[in-house]
Amino acid sequence: MSRIEIIHGDITKQAVDAIVNAANCSLLGGGGVDGAIHRAAGPELLAECRTLHGCETGKAKITRGYRLPAKYVIHTPGPVWRGGTHREDELLASCYRSCLTLADENGCKTVDFPSISTGVYAFPVERAAGIAIRTIGAFLADHPAIERVRMVCFDSRTRAAYDAALREWEARA
Ligand code: ADP
Repeated sequence: MSRIEIIHGDITKQAVDAIVNAANCSLLGGGGVDGAIHRAAGPELLAECRTLHGCETGKAKITRGYRLPAKYVIHTPGPVWRGGTHREDELLASCYRSCLTLADENGCKTVDFPSISTGVYAFPVERAAGIAIRTIGAFLADHPAIERVRMVCFDSRTRAAYDAALREWEARA
């Protein structure tokens, strides 16, 4: 059984140990999934984020989940797509690794990700999905304490891209 799953849904509704926020470098909120997470978590989340003094692209920082059903939120700024020649692939892989490292260090067994960078940041979704699944798969192979990682997809095109990437990864593994 694969420890990676793809679902269609709203990440703010998931009762898991940690959800990931596709944040921006300020960590002070934004649109898309970031705005939805801050609205659902309440103002205490923004107050904790203010103490973190931002985050570099490809790195991650953890907070509590406050009014969310998830215990923690792991905030990671993904790369803005600039044609693929500005280390976007490497930075996107680094987001997934940084988040999973923090999750593991904090004892999280279940982690849900949104599709980092494929909204406003315009990273091509099929390419992002391949990077996400390969990076998560490689991390899980070395970290048995994490029981399940899900990609929570907000629309059917995103879901199809991650389903295809997971099938490809499982066929190779
Ligand atoms: P980025 O700036 O990293 O591109 P966005 O928030 O614009 O981040 O989009 C990332 C992905 O998150 C997109 O696929 C978008 O449809 C999706 N998304 C938006 N709201 C939610 C939500 N509540 N739950 C899960 N995914 C969401």
